[in-house]
Amino acid sequence: MTTPMLSQYHQIKREHPDKILMFRLGDFYEMFYDDAVIAARELDIVLTSRPTGNDTRIPMAGVPYHAVDTYLSKLLDKGYRIALCDQVEDARQAKGLVKRAVTRVVTPGTVIDSALLDDKRNNYIGCVVESEGSIGIALADASTGEFFAGEIHGKNSRETAIEELSRYAPSECLIPRSHEGRDFHLLLARNVATITPWEEWAYDTEAAYKSLCEHFKVNSLRGFDLEELKLGTKAAGALLTYLSKTQMTELQHITSIRRLHFGTGLIIDSSTRRNLELLKRASDGSTKGSLIWVLDVTQTSMGSRLLKKWLLNPLTDPDRINERLDAVEVLSCDPVMRGELRECLRQTYDIERIVGKLSYGTANARDLLCLATSLSLLPRIKQTVLKARAPLLVQLATSMPDTQQLAALILAAITDDPPATVTDGGIIRDGFHQEIDALRSASESGKDWIAQLEVSERERTQIRSLRVGYNKVFGYYIEVTKPNLHLVPPDYIRRQTLANAERFVTEKLKEYEEKVLGAESRLCELEYEVFCKLREEVCSHIPKFQAVAMAVAELDVLSTFAEIAVKYNYKRPEVDRSDVIEIRGGRHPVVERLLGEGEYVPNDTFMNSSDSRLLLITGPNMAGKSTYCRQVALITLMAQTGSFVPADAARIGVVDRIFTRVGAHDDLSMGQSTFMVEMTELSNILRNATDKSLIVLDEIGRGTSTYDGLAIAWAVTEYILDSIGAKTLFATHYRELVSIEDTHEGVRNHSVAIEKRGDELIFLRKMVKGPADGSYGIDVARLAGLPPSVVDRAFGILEVLERADRGKPERRPKRCQMTQLTFLQVQEHPIIEELRSINVMNITPVEAINILYDLQQKARRK
Ligand code: ADP
Repeated sequence: MTTPMLSQYHQIKREHPDKILMFRLGDFYEMFYDDAVIAARELDIVLTSRPTGNDTRIPMAGVPYHAVDTYLSKLLDKGYRIALCDQVEDARQAKGLVKRAVTRVVTPGTVIDSALLDDKRNNYIGCVVESEGSIGIALADASTGEFFAGEIHGKNSRETAIEELSRYAPSECLIPRSHEGRDFHLLLARNVATITPWEEWAYDTEAAYKSLCEHFKVNSLRGFDLEELKLGTKAAGALLTYLSKTQMTELQHITSIRRLHFGTGLIIDSSTRRNLELLKRASDGSTKGSLIWVLDVTQTSMGSRLLKKWLLNPLTDPDRINERLDAVEVLSCDPVMRGELRECLRQTYDIERIVGKLSYGTANARDLLCLATSLSLLPRIKQTVLKARAPLLVQLATSMPDTQQLAALILAAITDDPPATVTDGGIIRDGFHQEIDALRSASESGKDWIAQLEVSERERTQIRSLRVGYNKVFGYYIEVTKPNLHLVPPDYIRRQTLANAERFVTEKLKEYEEKVLGAESRLCELEYEVFCKLREEVCSHIPKFQAVAMAVAELDVLSTFAEIAVKYNYKRPEVDRSDVIEIRGGRHPVVERLLGEGEYVPNDTFMNSSDSRLLLITGPNMAGKSTYCRQVALITLMAQTGSFVPADAARIGVVDRIFTRVGAHDDLSMGQSTFMVEMTELSNILRNATDKSLIVLDEIGRGTSTYDGLAIAWAVTEYILDSIGAKTLFATHYRELVSIEDTHEGVRNHSVAIEKRGDELIFLRKMVKGPADGSYGIDVARLAGLPPSVVDRAFGILEVLERADRGKPERRPKRCQMTQLTFLQVQEHPIIEELRSINVMNITPVEAINILYDLQQKARRK
């Protein structure tokens, strides 16, 4: 690398210090210094070095330019921001060093190239600003043009902000530079996305307001319901500036901004989303085995994206839910209507993302054709849906603006199979533009003449092997092999000598060549011009396409719910403001699909806010407790999304939040132990649940000693019952807890039926009233294949422990006297230390009894 080029590199790099700079040199994008080191590590490419001209070498790594997208996507996945620097003048015309400039900036939240995006997922970018305990949030999807903003106030505003943001799973989140390094920054980085600190000035109240007004060409933001949202506006304005700086366009597809009202729908926090495996499986992150895997039979990418949004943002207003349910019912009862609608949807392209490309000026003729094909299906969709006796369907059909003229214009202008490039011609249909037709026929007649030339010249010269050909450098030529050169007529002009042939032209051939080539290049230019004009015309209708896209996506999701309901025999839930959750013959939508036909055992649920608000479910591992709890949560969530549910019948009184605390998973990467994670989640539940919430607790207190765990589980249960009153499903292996039913109103003991035939344990998967009659832990261990000697030994130890336990006085704590709990006192007793030091696995039953006897004596003496 020469020094001038290096200084050019440094100059450009200075403007993009926080990005990996990919610097185009020949056929490669090269990276230097730290960028090279990072790229080599992250992309698994070779790290080389390059001399700088003064005896030193600098690290360098490169990727071929034609494969750059693959590398970009890897870097984006890892959260890097990249600036691509290209030559911006023709090397042949450059005086001295070729001018280079950054032509594209890609960051995780601003990618728009289809090659780098998953079409079934929105790619959101968030922007956050915090001031005096309040938080402004803005979110946008640069590929579709969605844009919204809102504010969060009051206590726990940070937690709420993180929950709300993570519903949209943004891939990048902006914060003001002044927030850098603060706790909030770290919280966001840990829980939300890659953080990009952004210019302070962009968050300035006036600057932000102004940039929004300028973008939307309005005098005030009142029309967007944002007027009094100071922080929301700051965040939105800053986000818009960031997008226009990185995208380097006018962002025409961001036609509006919606106000987000946080906390209005059914709130599902991030651990619940993970525990209920809504979008992916908790264990390996795969879609298979998640709720979306069962439900997503959408026909369009727009529908697929909306379905995810709906599942993460279920409703709480029974009227709106029933509107959706009415629509699903009509579609599920009418297979012809559903079939016709879904067939039309199947042929509909991703209008939302085409609109994005239109706005970025990257839409090609194929995109326009896809748009037109989709738009021309609308009359059929409208006609089908308008017949439906469901107000929502009719409303969606009528909300679609008429775009038929535009569709017709595009179809008349663009050829049936246009190329992906827009500058090489072949785009505009015959008969659409006079001059194009004329040029095309001139070029074609010239080509015909040239095609004829071979025949006529062979005849004239009597050279049978004479050939007329074309190459890019010399244009058209007549080729004569060496042995025939003596037959070449005098009007042939020599152009090129090859090993065994010579190439000639004639005056006439040159004339026709000019005619053909001239016509062709003019044709390409003109086609491009006409295409751009058409594209501009189409661009001016972007808001209409967006309205169409929204309606199409919603119709797609509603018809998907109907399709699934019929396919898997789901039933319409009754959704109201009552205080019950009543499910007959409920099934877990995912486990049911993973098992063979008819293998899933349906179960009933009855909960209300008075005498049956906490179901305490006991039973051995593998009995089906977790599945049952999640099934209730999923059915409630699906009902509030507007979907039919896997049950024979269900009545769901809407809940305001669903909380789950399921299983034990370590969050070691974030420095938290299993127990800490568990307790953090639990405290979140206890602080935020209301009497309208649904709580699923699947084993709590396992990460600590038995007594600690039991004490926590006990206290939590009492607190939920006495102070919160939320509907709760609590699956636990602490059988001691079942006695809470005797001391507290509202608790119902349930268990999963087990049958023991001889040594064999049979899981009946049926939920029955009353507590489990044993814990069967060792039986399950036997099922899992533990060696028989270990199993026998375990049974022996169990017997001893149980016998000793029976000798103990009352273990049940008195109600509301948690400070006097016997086992809490025991825990502070020195005997606990002794107990801890005993290695139970290494002593015989007799030794155990002796130790116990000793301990008891000591305890009595104390
Ligand atoms: P637990 O929480 O009691 O340990 P799980 O809920 O994890 O048990 O269930 C264990 C397995 O039992 C599940 O993976 C599933 O395959 C099966 N299962 C659970 N419930 C049912 C049911 N109602 N019908 C059929 N199989 C079930």
